[in-house]
Amino acid sequence: MNSSPLQAPRTKVKVTAIPGDGIGPEVMRATQTVLAAAGAQVEWEDALAGAEAFRRGIAAGATRETLDSIARNGVALKGPLETPVGFGDKSANVTLRKTFEMYGNIRPVRELPGIRTPFSGRGIDFVVVRENVEDVYAGIEHMQTPGVAQCLKIITEVGCERIVRLAAAVAEAEGRKKVTVATKANIMKLTEGMLKRAAEQVMPEFPHLQHEHMIVDNCAHQMVIRPEQFDVAVMTNMNGDILSDLAAGLVGGLGVAPSANLGDEAAMFEAVHGSAPQIAGKGVANPTALLLSSLMMLRHIGDFATARRIEHALYVTLEEGKDLTGDIARDGEGAPTAAYVDRIIANLDRESTLVPEREYRPIGMKRWPQITWYRAASTRELVGVDVFVESERDPRAISITLQAAAEHSAFDLTMISSRGAQVWPDIGGHTFLVDHFRARFMFKKAPNGNGVAEITDLLQRIGRQHNWMHLEKLQRFDGADAYSKA
Ligand code: NAD
Repeated sequence: MNSSPLQAPRTKVKVTAIPGDGIGPEVMRATQTVLAAAGAQVEWEDALAGAEAFRRGIAAGATRETLDSIARNGVALKGPLETPVGFGDKSANVTLRKTFEMYGNIRPVRELPGIRTPFSGRGIDFVVVRENVEDVYAGIEHMQTPGVAQCLKIITEVGCERIVRLAAAVAEAEGRKKVTVATKANIMKLTEGMLKRAAEQVMPEFPHLQHEHMIVDNCAHQMVIRPEQFDVAVMTNMNGDILSDLAAGLVGGLGVAPSANLGDEAAMFEAVHGSAPQIAGKGVANPTALLLSSLMMLRHIGDFATARRIEHALYVTLEEGKDLTGDIARDGEGAPTAAYVDRIIANLDRESTLVPEREYRPIGMKRWPQITWYRAASTRELVGVDVFVESERDPRAISITLQAAAEHSAFDLTMISSRGAQVWPDIGGHTFLVDHFRARFMFKKAPNGNGVAEITDLLQRIGRQHNWMHLEKLQRFDGADAYSKA
């Protein structure tokens, strides 16, 4: 077996350590103990985030000192943070990801020796690259009527290019051959389609990497039916969230799943699991996921040799199956976290023969200038507006009042839809109706100026009869419709 040619940093690298909540402090201590025993060149800077920060009244869930520490060090290892459910406080995890624009979530999915799953022996070994800051996770939600909620799915061209380039960089860093782009572009042509199109533009720059597109629901199916086919899979935020958890389930579950959050200014490494409050403080938590995350962190700071050494010790320990924690113990009682850690340390100079060697290199991340990204269009036309109205009437009655409202205005009413399905003019079929309608008004002729006066006039006319709550301009950029059909 060839060890990595890249050497450990000569001086210690400062890393922000956020122990977090529940079992966090226990798995953090365990991980730090193993890293220290292996001689990792890391100096820890302890920082606070999560439940204690919320208790202190810090709504963002992370203290100023914590944010400053991450900004200074650029690298953090983080335990799980409790997220308050429902209204009120924000998620501290989201605060950290967003503050440092950690746009890439990297989740390796690799079969672990000794962890029995229905997929054992299949040689599963791939990486999910999930966009981490856009999509419905932008958290822009509105109740449009008392019974109808909306969440905006924000996808940007630059965000798509960025995550595709990161996926390609991850593939190159790990000597992988294929990038699968999984989207729902067949339905969401503009948003999900943007990731597909970004990949089609970017991937030809990497001719040595095979590139394929897969519809995301089929991707979920394929991950279960034939998981060996995947190498690197890249997705928008919510699809990536769901499929990376599915993928973790293939190789032993969240308790052994590591992750990295990468951005230009900072990288944060964390286990995928939560704070497991049921077992917190009992000394029985499994630290494997955070330990594997710390190996990603060691590679990030260039300490490839120590990462490899610990990885082998961990694999030997899992293979032999002695002193495993309760969640992964093969028989009988599980061992305490401390015994598992001692066993890994005792195995530090042993090598596993079961795991195919992978030669890691630094991930060549492009740096994205901190500017306002502006995408010009050679032509743009305003052709109409979609006005969303709340009404308990039926579509025909609504059409009559809306047509009357548009009479002598700059617009024609061309269509009314309810939850995306056309309900006027009637095209047959049975549409379940709720009090939320989209009325499409097209300009009779192109407006002279920016169209604002005509739109304002229309809204006033509609507002006399209807409660409208939302408006979208219908535009054409570079000669192409920039809106979906009903
Ligand atoms: P969880 O991951 O904490 O627990 C799910 C199950 O897995 C539980 O049975 C738990 O005991 C077990 N488990 C998890 N990690 C384990 C480990 N290392 N060793 C042994 N068993 C382990 O998920 P949850 O119960 O849904 O969430 C609990 C809290 O964690 C919530 O407040 C949630 O918001 C938070 N959370 C945080 C993160 C994060 O910080 N990244 C991620 C997920 C959940």
